[in-house]
Amino acid sequence: MGVGLLRLRWGRGWAGQGRVSRSYRAVSRRLACGDVEGRLEAIFGRVRAIQAKSGRFDMLLCVGNFFGSTSEAEWAEYRTGAKKAPIPTFVLGANNQDTLNYFPDVSGCELAENITYLGRRGVYSGCSGLQIAYLSGTEAQEQPAPAHSFSTKDVAELKMSLLSSPNFRGVDILLTSPWPRDVGTFANSAGEIDTKKCGSKLVSDLAASLKPRYHFAALEKAYYERLPYRNHMVLQETPQHVTRFIALADVGNTSKKKYLYAFSIVPMSSMDPAELVKQPQDVTENPYRKLRKEAPKSKAPLSAEEEPACQFFFDLNKHQGKKRPSEGKERGDSQPKQAKKPPQPTGPCWFCLASPEVEKHLVVSIGTHCYLALAKGGLSPDHVLILPIGHYQSVVDLSSEVLEEVTKYKAALKEFFRSKGKRYVLFERNYRSQHLQLQVIPVPLDLCTSEDIKEAFIAQAQEQQIELLEIPEHSDIAQVAQPGTPYFYVELDTGEKLFHRIRGRFPLQFGREVLASEALLAQPQRADWRQCAAQRPEEAAQARAFRHEFEPFDFSLRD
Ligand SMILES: [Zn+2]
Repeated sequence: MGVGLLRLRWGRGWAGQGRVSRSYRAVSRRLACGDVEGRLEAIFGRVRAIQAKSGRFDMLLCVGNFFGSTSEAEWAEYRTGAKKAPIPTFVLGANNQDTLNYFPDVSGCELAENITYLGRRGVYSGCSGLQIAYLSGTEAQEQPAPAHSFSTKDVAELKMSLLSSPNFRGVDILLTSPWPRDVGTFANSAGEIDTKKCGSKLVSDLAASLKPRYHFAALEKAYYERLPYRNHMVLQETPQHVTRFIALADVGNTSKKKYLYAFSIVPMSSMDPAELVKQPQDVTENPYRKLRKEAPKSKAPLSAEEEPACQFFFDLNKHQGKKRPSEGKERGDSQPKQAKKPPQPTGPCWFCLASPEVEKHLVVSIGTHCYLALAKGGLSPDHVLILPIGHYQSVVDLSSEVLEEVTKYKAALKEFFRSKGKRYVLFERNYRSQHLQLQVIPVPLDLCTSEDIKEAFIAQAQEQQIELLEIPEHSDIAQVAQPGTPYFYVELDTGEKLFHRIRGRFPLQFGREVLASEALLAQPQRADWRQCAAQRPEEAAQARAFRHEFEPFDFSLRD
């Protein structure tokens, strides 16, 4: 990708996918770009260079601010026809009062040769058959909505115009200037952009309804390609196509953030339905689903939750004496660890995969650095452990590539259990144990909420005078625990973690006891694993069953 193209990277679903070239269908090659801000020479120069190298594109779609406040001279050359855009260019309207005058007709018009303003809102279908829905401006903060803004009514009308068609399945492309609020939920990090605070709720609502295959936005001067998300609920609705949200930076930005995105697309109307709904490996839950239901606030929020967790967070580290500034630290900028060889066990180990002591019949999946095994005497037949193949004592000791695979297993298990109507609870006890075991125990979704699970842990910890501290979301254990210090933590499926630094004695079965308690799984008789031991043939049968069911989610079988 490097050669000359720099920040231009092919969007997923282009390179290497034989399906496109094999069928000779109406493949469109598109470019999408972030805020041009009037830098027409910069964007068109780039487009020319790309076309010279990679062939012709059909269309350039611009989201965000096409005009800036300082670009009069550059624009004049295009407006008068002295210069011409090298590609049919489609732009969204003004996002502020200053640039309104560039867009004389709210229903859309040609601004210059080859440069078209799409209009305030609507659907554009060119001869390609692609359906492009668009919404100009930013979300109105007042009534009546200013000319550069959209209101609830605009969004409702745009939705109606599409959703009223009985065969509506979604649109190919959605163009908006603002990001949709909460787009980062269930997703990879959007870097410095806080998706819970930025962007428009109306855009989220629009995207949730229109189900675009690609959704482009800008205005935040940031590039963010979200993992694709589902438009259906697993096992409850028939599979639908996924949405890829891509936010682009501003043209010619000095920090070399990506502002131009190339992709090829076949209209969904001419796609094989099975191909259309294919779910990529890295698909996530729909970020707006929660938003649409707007879950009622949990009955009695825990007081600990309301306080910024970081207040006590860094006190954990008594050796350091003074508190470190916590802002930013918790944003996940932890340095990747150097790869290092796993230490060798000093004696026989039950969990080193290479060791003769391992109960191989319990192993259900083997990756590159980690493996999964059913827990011996598990709390339930699908109680599973994530274990490093090599001898590591705790997550704090893991090198980045092992940690990465742990994360992959967590994601796969999460999805697997979700498909079975369960959510998992994970815990680690780094105390009196030689080899890291991440205990993963599924709990039926209809039995209790994540909040219930959290409350049960906090309540039972209090009873036993165990101090459980909430760790900021997305921060990792390595930030609170020094290598070698004993600890216990539990991680909920929401990513929230409760951490206890073990200073004296700690009940070995604590995590399991809480889950087995009446408040949760209500199987107190199974709290002790020794009382759950099964015969070897039964264990082997459970492992076989797990392996078989987990197969569709097991990346280790495909990678
Ligand atoms: Zn070991």
